[in-house]
Amino acid sequence: MNIDELRNRIESEITSLKTFEDVKKVKASLLGRKGLFSEYLDGLKLLDRDEKKIFGKEINLLKMHAESRLKELESFYLEEEKRKKEALDKIDITMPGKIPLLGKKHPITQTLEEIIRIFTSLGFSVAEGPDIEQEYYNFEALNIPKDHPARDMQDTFYIKSDIVLRTHTSPVQIRTMESQLPPVKIIAPGSVYRCDNDISHTPMFHQVEGLMVDKRVRFSDLKGILSIFIREIFGENTPLRFRPSYFPFTEPSAEVDIGCVICEGDGCRVCKETGWLEILGSGMVHPQVLRIVGYDPEEVSGFAFGMGVERIAMLKFGIDDIRQFYYNDIRFLSQF
Ligand SMILES: [Zn+2]
Repeated sequence: MNIDELRNRIESEITSLKTFEDVKKVKASLLGRKGLFSEYLDGLKLLDRDEKKIFGKEINLLKMHAESRLKELESFYLEEEKRKKEALDKIDITMPGKIPLLGKKHPITQTLEEIIRIFTSLGFSVAEGPDIEQEYYNFEALNIPKDHPARDMQDTFYIKSDIVLRTHTSPVQIRTMESQLPPVKIIAPGSVYRCDNDISHTPMFHQVEGLMVDKRVRFSDLKGILSIFIREIFGENTPLRFRPSYFPFTEPSAEVDIGCVICEGDGCRVCKETGWLEILGSGMVHPQVLRIVGYDPEEVSGFAFGMGVERIAMLKFGIDDIRQFYYNDIRFLSQF
C-alpha cells in the first residue's frame, strides 16, 4: 500500500480547487462513500494485522487532515460567493441613469396649441363640430350655392350624396350661431379634408376658424385681432397687409399677407419673389349667413377668419414640403 501516493493525490486535488463548487466535487471524490479513502480503507482488508494497524493509522491521519482542509476551504469560498453577490446587488450611484425615450408633441399640435393659446387670451372660447358633416352646414348655410366650384366632386370627399368630410372648419360657425344668441366669440380648430395631394396639399389638414358676432363689430376689430395674433406668432415686427378677396360667406372679404419670414421682403422662392406670404382668409360675416342662422344683420355684425395650421407651422419652422408632417419620420419630428 502506497501512502505517499495517497498523500500526493490528496494534496494535488486540494490545491487545484478554485471555487465552492470545486470543493463540493473534491469532497465527494475523496471522502464520499465510493471515494479515495473508502478505496484505501477497503484495501486494508488484504493486509495482515500489523500492517493494518500502521497503514490504518496513516490513512486516518490523512483523512482527518483532508477533512479539516476541505472544511476551511468550504467556508472560505462560501464567504467569497456571498461577498460577490452583495457587490452585484449594491447600487452604484455614480452610474449614469437610463434616460427613457420620451415622446413629444407633433409640430402641428404645438402650432395648434399656440394658436389656441393666443386667441383664448383675447377672450375667444373654443368650439368644435363633427368631421363628417352635412352638406348643408359645409356649403348651403355658408352661402355656397350648388354650382360653386368648391362643391366640385374633385375637391370634396363625399360619404353619401348629402354627407361630406368637412372641407373647412366654417360649418362650426353655423352650428354655434344656431345654438346661441349673440354675442359670439369663438375659434374652431380641427381637421378638414380635400381631394388634394402635392408638395403644399395633403388630403387631411388642420384649420382654425374664428368668429366674432356682436353689436357694432367692425372691420377694424378684425384687423386689430389679427394684427395681435400675427405679431404674437411670427414676431413683433412682422408686417401684414389686408388684400381684397372673395369668399361666399364674407362681405367684404380680405386675404391677409405677412412679410415673407424667409427673405424679409427681398423676394425669394417661397414668396414667389413678392416679399409677401398669404397666411389666412377673413372678412365680415355675409348678411345672408347671419339671416340663415336667424340673426338680424341690421342688429348685429361680425367678422370671421380661417387659417391653415400646416401653412403656419411650415413658415414658423421653415419646412418646404407639407407632406413631411405626415410621414411620421421620427428624425423629422424630433427636431421640433
Ligand atoms: Zn420671401
